[in-house]
Amino acid sequence: MNRRKWMLAAAQAPLAACAARTSPAQPRLESEVVRLKLRHTWTTVMSSSQHRDNLHVRYTADGVTGRGEAAPIVRYQESAETARQMVEAFAPLLVQRDPWQFAKVMDFLFRWRSGQYAAKAAVDIALMDWVGQKLGVPLYRYFGLDRTDAPVTTFSIGIDTPEITRQKTREAADFPVLKIKVGLDTDEATIEAVRSVTRKPLRVDANEGWKDKEEAVRKINWLEKQGVEFVEQPMPAPMLEETRWVRSRVHIPILADEACLHPADIPRLAGAFDGVNIKLMKCGGILEAFRMIQIAKSLGMKTMLGCMIESSIGISAAAHLSPLVDYADLDGNLLIANDPYVGVKVEKGRLILPDSPGLGLRPA
Ligand code: MG
Repeated sequence: MNRRKWMLAAAQAPLAACAARTSPAQPRLESEVVRLKLRHTWTTVMSSSQHRDNLHVRYTADGVTGRGEAAPIVRYQESAETARQMVEAFAPLLVQRDPWQFAKVMDFLFRWRSGQYAAKAAVDIALMDWVGQKLGVPLYRYFGLDRTDAPVTTFSIGIDTPEITRQKTREAADFPVLKIKVGLDTDEATIEAVRSVTRKPLRVDANEGWKDKEEAVRKINWLEKQGVEFVEQPMPAPMLEETRWVRSRVHIPILADEACLHPADIPRLAGAFDGVNIKLMKCGGILEAFRMIQIAKSLGMKTMLGCMIESSIGISAAAHLSPLVDYADLDGNLLIANDPYVGVKVEKGRLILPDSPGLGLRPA
């Protein structure tokens, strides 16, 4: 779409009301709900779905457009619509501010409204993409990182029948490490289905599925024998003392996901968990995720960058920090059939960071 057509469309679209109110020379923040179609029906203990509605945002100032994404998390009372409301309400405040003061802007946004961290992440990602493009550096360079340190990403296999689990495992042949979702009565059958196809290392995510600490110990010790490297969130997030009890009786690491949302959560998790799964959508963006990685490392904990079902906007944003972490689970864009962008790529499981400025996105 050329600029003229775009402006006409923007003037007609209520979602882009901010753009219509401001002249082209003024900064603007636009948002749009985007339906991402899943390649396979995606099932965890929490939900099952065939598509995801995310919010894509564009921040334009001084001739450069930064892109951001919110992948709202239902568990935290977020939806594409609540994210859109937050971004639209913030837009008139953002466009008056200096984007070079991005840390000050984000500090203001975090104090301005509580909750809606996916929406906050969308604003943070768009600002950081803008800053990187204006400076002419990829974000990993802005953070002083080496792109060749980017880790292997796991490819996630959702809960399914043994037959489909075997098929998905075969389709993931290029990935040297798989992440298997468990947490139901079918755990053993799921792992056996994977193991009937491959001997590669596995990581397991129980998504809080085991409610009994003895059951958790039994399952984790069985998983260790199946070649599982670590287990993510075996028990419900509030069951911290039970998780500490479990950890003292198993040998493989236990990582926190649902128990670890924000920087302030991390110190109390040390001792109950060996590491944390940090997600931009849980914490509110790149700057906050960077802070969490540093806090976890300072406590001697393992670090992992994870994701929701996201397009290449959100996944590339996380990937630019990935040279800092021990583990990556950044496959959300690979699970969708209509990703509008190309950014970070995966070769034999390794994350290949784009070398162009900002997030390094181009249209698909
Ligand atoms: Mg998880």
